[in-house]
Amino acid sequence: MNTNRVEAERLLAIGEKLLQSRDLSGSRDFAILAQEAEPLLEGSDQIVAIVDVLIAAEKPINNDHLDWYAILQLDRTCEDLDLIRKQYRRLGLLLHPDKNPFSLADHAFKLVTDAWAVLSDPVQKAIYDRDIVASAQPSTFWTACPYCYFLYQYPSTCEGCCLRCQNCQRSFHGLSIPSLPPLVPGQEAYYCNWGCLPMGFVFGTLGSHGPLLDNASHALAVSNGATPEFASSSRKRGRPRKGV
Ligand SMILES: [Zn+2]
Repeated sequence: MNTNRVEAERLLAIGEKLLQSRDLSGSRDFAILAQEAEPLLEGSDQIVAIVDVLIAAEKPINNDHLDWYAILQLDRTCEDLDLIRKQYRRLGLLLHPDKNPFSLADHAFKLVTDAWAVLSDPVQKAIYDRDIVASAQPSTFWTACPYCYFLYQYPSTCEGCCLRCQNCQRSFHGLSIPSLPPLVPGQEAYYCNWGCLPMGFVFGTLGSHGPLLDNASHALAVSNGATPEFASSSRKRGRPRKGV
């Protein structure tokens, strides 16, 4: 037995152990090293296939929908059914639990089968495509005016920019607050606790999709003007929360 093969088997065994402990990227790295040491070694491509599918499944679209396209290693909203079928067959052969002895192969195989079930069915695919487009809302962050404590939601492109408070008209640095203050039950209001100082309530109205900024596109358009500080104008750039 040649030394390359011994080394490749050693690397593959490490990759297998890492897969068992769900260290996906570590497992993939060792499987690739094994493949490079001995291209004819069986198993490395099976581990890589498992890991690639599981990693794709860990990144749902907008935290909401499993990315069936990424799971089949396709571009988003691929329309080529022959290509979708080809990817399904290729991954299915690599991952079928009767052929693939590594842990999590059954899980990866099920994901690939589910992806195929959606993307091969024109009706299901159309619904899925519509849903992922609809859920692709602009990414936003919440910030608070440090002077009057009004809360604002802005497109993420404005994070770190100098913003002007619509309430007190003072400029402040658009720092993201880690999470919205809890909604006070029974009153559509946020309780804002700034540092150790209780700041009272800041009212807000939650729409059906949560507190998304309805004029985000306006703010986005303004921020694209590359003006570091937003000059005051009648156009709203955040949705101010009414103070008490
Ligand atoms: Zn203010």
